[in-house]
Amino acid sequence: MQTMSSFQSSHLSLVKPYHLHRTVAAPFTQSMNARVQELTSVLQTTLEQTKLIELFADKLTKYIKLDGLDYQSPDEKVNRKIGTLSTHRATYDLKLEQTNLGSVHFYRDRTFSSKEIELLENMLSALVYPLHNALDYQHAMEMASYDALTGVQNRRTMDITLQREVELAHRKQSPLSMLILDADNFKQFNDTYGHAYGDAVLKTIADTINTTIRGSDLLFRFGGEEFVVLTSQTVSNGAHLLAERIRKNIEAIRQINSIKIHTTVSLGVATLLPDETAQAFFERADSAVYAAKQAGRNTTAIAEQIPEKK
Ligand code: GH3
Ligand code: MG
Ligand code: MG
Repeated sequence: MQTMSSFQSSHLSLVKPYHLHRTVAAPFTQSMNARVQELTSVLQTTLEQTKLIELFADKLTKYIKLDGLDYQSPDEKVNRKIGTLSTHRATYDLKLEQTNLGSVHFYRDRTFSSKEIELLENMLSALVYPLHNALDYQHAMEMASYDALTGVQNRRTMDITLQREVELAHRKQSPLSMLILDADNFKQFNDTYGHAYGDAVLKTIADTINTTIRGSDLLFRFGGEEFVVLTSQTVSNGAHLLAERIRKNIEAIRQINSIKIHTTVSLGVATLLPDETAQAFFERADSAVYAAKQAGRNTTAIAEQIPEKK
């Protein structure tokens, strides 16, 4: 561990938190022990990183005057800033064994006393295990929600999201459109260049869709070479334009892994009808894909608009 002569950019790795602390800090006083224990039980109430940091800051500021703190997760997905960032800074890189848990900066307008640092570090020790659990949990949730090959959301997430988006669109009476995309003659890539190459093509198709859609559109891989885009606030015309943009961008791919290819997709587009269920909506878009295939592939078909029941 480095000595902390300046608190403005000090680093401390909490590799084995409690053990490490006993070697560098004075023995726990009764009150410090009680504070850490109280914090530990509070931190057990959540598995969400942001919430953990908020609870941690809430307890810490009861005992130490702080202007602010910020936490940055190792994957940089979470950056929670609380309070204001002032002149003096103490930085801690949090590690548990070999696992990087991110870093915390504490800010205020004057340096921390050694007593404060001792408390700060003991409070941090109580944060390390819950933070480790939260990162594990988040990772498990991502594994369960995302497709490992393409990195887009999976079938399971699609089922849940589609249901939710359909209910929301009905309640708000706002438009919702769906694109279903099926790669054309995909089997040939596997047959000609092998399954790993087919995988690379799928990944490229997913990336191309991702870079074509807006941030508010939702992309899922729901089958082997089948993808769904859900686009809210979008009427049939807009969804058709989006489908055509995707189709053309995929057709424009010239080369994958140094192999020249020509890859195309067929798309079906449907816009949610009044009172339509998620399943009926999906089936209409799926029938449109079938129509696009029948029409010769590399094309977009619009789903039939079943007349509203009187
Ligand atoms: P069509 O134009 O009628 O859609 O023809 P197709 O060859 O795309 O359709 P078909 O359903 O006959 O074949 C789909 C192929 O996609 C067969 C399957 O092995 C392949 N596939 C599905 N999932 C994966 C995957 O994860 N990786 C690879 N490499 N291939 C996959
Ligand atoms: Mg298919
Ligand atoms: Mg196909």
